[in-house]
Amino acid sequence: MHYPEPISKLIDSFMKLPGIGPKTAARLAFFVLNMKEDSVLDFAKALVDAKRKLTHCSVCGHITDQDPCYICSDQRRDQSVVCVVQEAKDVIAMEKMKEYNGQYHVLHGAISPMDGIGPDDINVASLLRRLQDETIQEVILATNPNIEGEATAMYISRLLKPTGIRVTRIAHGLPVGGDLEYADEVTLSRALEGRREI
Ligand SMILES: [Zn+2]
Repeated sequence: MHYPEPISKLIDSFMKLPGIGPKTAARLAFFVLNMKEDSVLDFAKALVDAKRKLTHCSVCGHITDQDPCYICSDQRRDQSVVCVVQEAKDVIAMEKMKEYNGQYHVLHGAISPMDGIGPDDINVASLLRRLQDETIQEVILATNPNIEGEATAMYISRLLKPTGIRVTRIAHGLPVGGDLEYADEVTLSRALEGRREI
């Protein structure tokens, strides 16, 4: 089908988003054409602002508009425990549960030899730097319960063995192969509670 160029460009842009096929992209593009100009400008500004204003926290790697992030700068939180997760959206999932009051460390990925992702490609070095601070007594490995997540948890636990810091892995109440972000709050809370030393 031939669309005028501005529409086909808009359709192509929507198709770059995950889960959006050509039909949905076309539907969204035509929806935008019918929106008021002010709303379109607000929408475009929200996209650009999110990209420009958000950065990664220099301490934990979480997405933030201030550095350190609101979690790292909150003195009321438990400074002795760090929960290691794969993605920033996992922090959001954990926070929604409202039962965890410690620190986080976001890896931005998981070790995956198949995809050529090694330990140097994820945010591990800064975790080791943080652990030199003796206030941290426990590291909870909350990477996803799939092959990559398990490999990453094993790698980090071996790395931390010599430090004598307590290393725990969240329990397997989580669906195998599922992502942390999709676990409901009760399951996530049980997984955290049932964590075991590794
Ligand atoms: Zn932070």
